[in-house]
Amino acid sequence: MAILRILTIPDPVLKQISAPVEMISPQVVNLIKDMQETMTSSNFCVGIAAPQIGVLSRIIVVDVSLNPKPHRNNGLLVMINPQITYSSGKLKSREGCLSVPEFTGNVSRKDKITVEYLDISGKKQALNTSGFESIVIQHEIDHLDGIVFLDKVSSLKTDIFKRV
Ligand code: ZN
Repeated sequence: MAILRILTIPDPVLKQISAPVEMISPQVVNLIKDMQETMTSSNFCVGIAAPQIGVLSRIIVVDVSLNPKPHRNNGLLVMINPQITYSSGKLKSREGCLSVPEFTGNVSRKDKITVEYLDISGKKQALNTSGFESIVIQHEIDHLDGIVFLDKVSSLKTDIFKRV
């Protein structure tokens, strides 16, 4: 396993659309382990997407139990080719991102989602979630489509904050 370097804006890789995973090869499994280790090595990091470490594959790893605040959660989630198949409600919250180290921003997202994906053994799964975990999953899936949270804030003047 290895802790990998996180790409930060304006790296052009972060703007690319990632390709679906065709086969869960040993390389894919190793990549997922590295993503997991990279995520847990960063303080308060609760999610990572493959493009953030320079791999344009549709893989995200999320674990909101790593956040010090208690949130309802499903522990470690490895999602391959994730797709949101249902969403409802709205939730606005302050987001941060390892790829945008200098800023946080207010972003509006869906509250409840259903996400379908393959787990690490290639089994099809569907997860219903809401609140913080739902937000993190939506944020990570955006990375697979070349979108960072800065692209989603409604006002560049009032909804972006410099980290101190
Ligand atoms: Zn991010």
